Amino acid sequence: MKKDIIDRLTKYVIIDTQSDPESNTTPSTEKQWNLLNLLQQELTDLGLETELDDNGYLFATLASNVEADLPTVSFLAHVDTSPDFNATNVNPQIIENYDGNTIKLGDTTRELSQDVFPGLKQVEGHTLMITDGTSLLGADDKAGVVEIMEAVKYLTEHPEIKHGDIRIAFTPDEEIGKGPHAFDVERFNADFAYTMDGSEYGELQYESFNAAEAKITCHGVNVHPGSAKNTLINAILLGQQFNALLPQQEVPERTEGYEGFYHLMKFNGDVEKTTLQYIIRDHDREQFELRKKRLLEIKEDINTHYQDDPIEIEINDQYYNMGEKIAENPHVIDIPKRVFANLGIEPNTEPIRGGTDGSQLSYMGLPTPNIFTGCANFHGPYEYASIDVMEKAIDVIIGIVQEVVNTYEQ
Ligand SMILES: [Zn+2]
Repeated sequence: MKKDIIDRLTKYVIIDTQSDPESNTTPSTEKQWNLLNLLQQELTDLGLETELDDNGYLFATLASNVEADLPTVSFLAHVDTSPDFNATNVNPQIIENYDGNTIKLGDTTRELSQDVFPGLKQVEGHTLMITDGTSLLGADDKAGVVEIMEAVKYLTEHPEIKHGDIRIAFTPDEEIGKGPHAFDVERFNADFAYTMDGSEYGELQYESFNAAEAKITCHGVNVHPGSAKNTLINAILLGQQFNALLPQQEVPERTEGYEGFYHLMKFNGDVEKTTLQYIIRDHDREQFELRKKRLLEIKEDINTHYQDDPIEIEINDQYYNMGEKIAENPHVIDIPKRVFANLGIEPNTEPIRGGTDGSQLSYMGLPTPNIFTGCANFHGPYEYASIDVMEKAIDVIIGIVQEVVNTYEQ
């Protein structure tokens, strides 16, 4: 099976599918169709019904082979790769039986070493796919695509394995935050789903941040500094004051685990006008709401000292902690937990300090935890995939479809 995984991953990573945050189309780049069309052909060749819509969402069904009426389980992966680093001419390299020594990446000065990337210790002895140092690998999330395709292929070749309807979705533009953007959850018509888009062996993620962004605009009054007394309002200083009123320990660089934060991403301006952009993150919904409230209170507080309310604020929610939705549907996490136990995989259910496509999909009515893929160091030249861990991820998919039968068949 290892060779099949390597061949398939190679075939997919050499197709450039980089998404583009500046684009207004869906998918954001034409080249994502190259992989979507190939996958549609491959799924059709495996005997699956497929639908590829105008927005680049590829859906497929592996039909049930049992009488019982079982819930429809689904598996998702994204076809695009990150815009953060070069994604053309990906030239994957294979390291057999990784011995833990530092690996030089192609002809570049870049190196993969355990000092810098301690996660590599976990994949000693594994077969790795790495880059030549000039591009990202794109195993995020083509490893997930491969795992789903190999699992489907395995199931079609082993009809003796019983399963209900299985829905597959390959989606565009995850890396620019638009994965679920045009996902037609109703048409997809699955009961629950798993994104194959995690990283290290054992990850089973079902808690994400609640997320919002805030834009603070400070309006100043610019007059000649020589005659400015009691007239000039300096927008830069308003901005400074605003930020100084936030809890200074609640920033990304001083928080971990379940601790939330305010992250000042941009601070631009002059005396006349200054803008501050924040992202607000918290796993706890109540704390999250309080964080947003605090921003409004600071605004009010500063504005009361001026006549014309110099500070404006705009807050937009981005996504919510899927944990709330998973808690309403505990089987969605109990099923993979039993599968992990059967396979001897220790689940790592640490909360994600971020979001996944599942964070939004869970609120669109499709509860969607995230499962490990075996790749790491996403979005840059140090990205790698462990073929051994990918094999385990395929076992997990096959295990989940069987566990759905065990759980629901009377
Ligand atoms: Zn990803």
